[in-house]
Amino acid sequence: MIHFTRRRTAFNLAASVQLGDIELRPSTEVRVLGVWLDLKLKWGAYLWKVQSKMPVYVGALGQVATSTWGALFCTARQVYTAVIRPVMTYGAFAWFTPADSRTRAGRLRGPVKKLQVLQNKCLRVVSGAFRATPIENLEVEMFVLLLDLHLCGLVAGTRRRLASSQSAKEIESASRAIRNRLQGRRRKTPRPTPGQAKGHWATNWLEAGGQPATRERGSEVQVAVLRSWKARKRARRRPPRLDRIDSEPSASILQLHQNLKKAKSSILVQMRTGYIRLTLFLRQIRVPSVESGRCQCDTSAKTVQHVVKWCPLEEREALGRRLNTCTLLSQKKTTAVIAKWFIETGRLRQYKVVNQLLYKGGEMPARDRWE
Ligand SMILES: [Zn+2]
Repeated sequence: MIHFTRRRTAFNLAASVQLGDIELRPSTEVRVLGVWLDLKLKWGAYLWKVQSKMPVYVGALGQVATSTWGALFCTARQVYTAVIRPVMTYGAFAWFTPADSRTRAGRLRGPVKKLQVLQNKCLRVVSGAFRATPIENLEVEMFVLLLDLHLCGLVAGTRRRLASSQSAKEIESASRAIRNRLQGRRRKTPRPTPGQAKGHWATNWLEAGGQPATRERGSEVQVAVLRSWKARKRARRRPPRLDRIDSEPSASILQLHQNLKKAKSSILVQMRTGYIRLTLFLRQIRVPSVESGRCQCDTSAKTVQHVVKWCPLEEREALGRRLNTCTLLSQKKTTAVIAKWFIETGRLRQYKVVNQLLYKGGEMPARDRWE
């Protein structure tokens, strides 16, 4: 039993109910169809329950996937999207309100803000990326939706299913009759219920982009979600950087990781995002013993592009003639070669053991002890 009110002093919240010999004491939270409600009908209790479960899930994910060994990239990603994310998004149709999920400045707010932090943790574990890596890059690299967009998709899909369901129509007409009886005399045009408001939102959101183009594959909801993601990315207008590959969100990026060992996948993510243990990045995160971000050849900052294409100190026979850095990190036939070459050169201490186990590599060169 629970008393729902936001006026804590107006009522006796300790009042109990006597049924025969049994006395029912009020509780401060209650579970309804798997969703937790608190006294104020806010989502604090639900959020706290989800947050308290997540360390177990994140810990389990970390035991099957690390940056250098463990489950393949696509497998670990699927563990997140099919097992862990549904725990966070359960009952989203009830607790997630798309129109209220962001502030005017575009920042997340409400329960989804805290759940996004949990998703970010999981993405870093699965991808093997550094903590400094911007999360919007990781979302594109892993083709995992921003959590609020994923929730928008869930809400719109549920709303569309309900709109065509006979039982939903009966529930709607019954609740309309009750509402009219309670409010009809006082208010001629009743305010839309949260469910109706979500229905209007879903219709507008799904139809905002017009008819799907022939090249846009997937369901109506998937097309709308991907369009919103791309629109947000364009609105951010981040300045281009030489040491980062900025791709449009697309599921085709997962093909780069097909059949790649975990170490190669994580190094590929690091190379594409530019957050990799080369001196430029180490200098940016202020590693004390790294005094400069420049390469030993002293011609440029040490980035993946410099190492792969320009540095006169590197031996690049293994890469053959494929030296166009834009395509080198974006095509399946070249990404595996460059990831292997990066590990074999022994420049990244993180992958030293991988080098020895996979390619029988030797000790790291002393000059690159920090890389
Ligand atoms: Zn150089």
